[in-house]
Amino acid sequence: MPTALVLSPHLDDAAFSCGGTVAQLADAGWRSVMATAFTATVLPATGFALACQLDKGLGPEVDYMALRRNEDRTAADILGMADLRWLDLPEAPHRGYESAPALFGPLRPDDAVWRPLADGIRALVEELQPDLVLAPQGLGNHVDHRQMIRAVQQAAPHHLAFYRDTPYALRDTDAVSEHMEPGLHECAPGIAAGLERKIAASCAYRSQIGFQFGGPARLAAALRDFAVAEGQGRPAERFLASSGALDLLSGSH
Ligand SMILES: [Zn+2]
Repeated sequence: MPTALVLSPHLDDAAFSCGGTVAQLADAGWRSVMATAFTATVLPATGFALACQLDKGLGPEVDYMALRRNEDRTAADILGMADLRWLDLPEAPHRGYESAPALFGPLRPDDAVWRPLADGIRALVEELQPDLVLAPQGLGNHVDHRQMIRAVQQAAPHHLAFYRDTPYALRDTDAVSEHMEPGLHECAPGIAAGLERKIAASCAYRSQIGFQFGGPARLAAALRDFAVAEGQGRPAERFLASSGALDLLSGSH
């Protein structure tokens, strides 16, 4: 049984960005494992980290990450994931990025989170021996997404395909990643069979979709329209893929 390792910076990115492809890999008999990097509960939340949960209507007593990990379980079930991993690293607001602009600004010189993240990815690759690894391109330039790319480049698994970080990609459809190494190939596998599961799985991240999309109805419309635009008339997800990953993704639909 072929195995896919689906890397997600936050609890939502993979479903939003490549959920259609992942659902279809499950249909095609793949064993998929979704691994999310920045999932650690840090208590008590203070400062900007606390503000990030208060502005989503969640009181200071709520374990925000526990709630989001539960959402992740629901999404993973909908996408047909065989397994789910949380790498338990702290999100950027817990690593010295203390404002919304800082999340999209320069990487802090003291932010070495890519090291344990690279170790975590290496361990997963060793354990799972994946045939295909999906990872973000870093569109939108969120520091956590960039640190994940750095870690992926360090761990250097085979057969990599980089998805277009959504919703950043749908806010700026012409965005091109500044973080990709040369030699990757564009591909746009169709997701007609997986699109509705992608939408349902994305809706499972209830705490995020108001902030990211304006609610479930808008999420559904936005992801449908975006998929059709990505495939120039047929629903698709776009990737930058290594040669080996290109063949695997071309066969997934
Ligand atoms: Zn993210």
